[in-house]
Amino acid sequence: MLDKFNYTEELKKTILVVDDEFVNRELLGAILEEYYNIIYAENGEEALALIKANEKILSAILLDLLMPVMDGFSLIDILKDDGRYRSIPVIVLTSEKQAEVESLRKGAADFITKPYDAPEVIIARVKRIIELSEDRLVIQSTERDELTGLFTKTFFYEYAGLMDRYHRDREMDAVSVNIDRFHLVNEIYGREFGNRVLLTLSNTIRDFARVNEGIAARGDADDFYMYINRQEGYEGLVSQIDRAMAGLSDAVHIKIRIGVYTCLADSQDMENRFDRSRLAANTLRGKFNQTIAYYDSELQHKVFYSERLINDIHDGIARKQFEVYYQPKYGILEGKPVLKMAEALIRWNHPEFGRIAPLDFISLFEENGLIQMLDHFVWKEAASSIKYWKDKFGVTIPVSVNVSRIDIYDHQIEDKIETLVHDYGLSPADLHLEITESAYSDNAEQLISVLKHFRQRGYLIEMDDFGAGYSSLNMLANLPIDVLKLDMGFIQDIHTDEKSLHMVQLIMDIARFLKVPVVAEGVEVEEQYRLLKEIGCELIQGYYFSRPVPKQDFEKFITGGGAV
Ligand code: C2E
Ligand code: CA
Ligand code: CA
Repeated sequence: MLDKFNYTEELKKTILVVDDEFVNRELLGAILEEYYNIIYAENGEEALALIKANEKILSAILLDLLMPVMDGFSLIDILKDDGRYRSIPVIVLTSEKQAEVESLRKGAADFITKPYDAPEVIIARVKRIIELSEDRLVIQSTERDELTGLFTKTFFYEYAGLMDRYHRDREMDAVSVNIDRFHLVNEIYGREFGNRVLLTLSNTIRDFARVNEGIAARGDADDFYMYINRQEGYEGLVSQIDRAMAGLSDAVHIKIRIGVYTCLADSQDMENRFDRSRLAANTLRGKFNQTIAYYDSELQHKVFYSERLINDIHDGIARKQFEVYYQPKYGILEGKPVLKMAEALIRWNHPEFGRIAPLDFISLFEENGLIQMLDHFVWKEAASSIKYWKDKFGVTIPVSVNVSRIDIYDHQIEDKIETLVHDYGLSPADLHLEITESAYSDNAEQLISVLKHFRQRGYLIEMDDFGAGYSSLNMLANLPIDVLKLDMGFIQDIHTDEKSLHMVQLIMDIARFLKVPVVAEGVEVEEQYRLLKEIGCELIQGYYFSRPVPKQDFEKFITGGGAV
């Protein structure tokens, strides 16, 4: 199969040179005849007749754009519209920059500028384009993405590998491009609009890859890949994409993420390189003012760390390295603050890395599903603590536990929690369930139905990180919620920035409309506490009262603060 890439192939391939000027035909002929059989045409119409006659043996077409009778653009249009000729690569001969871009967009494979480059350059270009297209032909039928016409991933990897083999000296970038919250674009604006977004992005990426002598592919949904010449930066690509998207709609803002892995003579296989570029892109989640990320040593370090953690979790559970901390929530509207409830927060006492906060591992465990095991452990600990404190102090401190979006997919979740509550002799209202707002947009229907069941049985639902997600207000009115937990970001500046405070007041109004109390999280200083009290916020959780503490230490709040 690889023979056809060889320079010293015996059988000469046939190419068609189309140009109305005799000198140009002569010149190209002289340069290429040593390597190819050449047939000539003087305009588009003549060319088309020759293409029809030689369809099976034609390896490439070198096409002038400005010609009498039928010009080059019209010919390209005809060829690209016809399944029989679409795959014959067209190299455009032109002296105008604008025309180059236009012809590439129409589907030309490459261009040669007039006055002609050095003969070696022309020979190399023609040869390369033929290589590329032949390889494409072998696999084309099954290896193209239906929607965008880009390569599928499997073929793309293989093909990128071939590019390396034949151009060892080229420095390449493995690039991943995806769309921030693409599922929301689909959900809110409909699949058809979603498809148009994908097509627009794929066209821009395809052109960018072409201009930079590379190839492009589409993976799942909104995952795109390019294997291209190494770039100084990707700001240019970002503005090209922004411009193309702006043409699509001026109401919808589409934000993309670009991850780059620079391939320096390394032994990583293709798949790894693109895994890394995708990883870099994924670090941009939630970073709203950043669009481009590189895979660098810092990221590599994080990857090793993550892999270690994933590797150690079973051991960690078996050796009881996980511990549940409790952070009090105080009611502040009754004169003196009163301990009302607590949130259970997981900690990992890792033998090597020390105490690890959940932000380092929760998302890892969500990715591989291990979070279900971990959360169940936390729920059980929380239930046992409620029972323990009830027996010891005669009061019930409701504890809220975090329910990951992944837990919702577990069909047994209701039974599991019901069993815990039953086993520890609690009432459902003692165990609150915290669901982060963004989970509502992931899989709203299933989530809502699960939460409704819980509520029917008497459990209380707290919507976590409210304001950081996307829920629209009219959606909010129909959601099963008993408590709103305001995202920490809102509280941070209320004592220094009037706008922030105003924002929180607005949210308080929404909560009143929904008839649910608000928990302000992340309250650290007295001033914040005072302001929140003033505007009628019911509950506060934050370092101002206490950091999350081990079960043992939590008792001092019960004896000191008194619960309802
Ligand atoms: P979250 O549910 O929003 O929890 C509140 C986080 O804010 C906790 O971080 C808490 O320690 C921190 N916090 C509380 N008061 C303050 C404050 O005044 N200032 C600042 N700067 N931070 C404050 P933590 O414990 O590191 O947990 C981080 C996140 O990890 C949680 O955010 C939650 O999303 C997740 N998480 C924690 N435990 C669990 C768990 O058992 N299961 C699941 N699925 N997720 C968990
Ligand atoms: Ca929480
Ligand atoms: Ca929160």
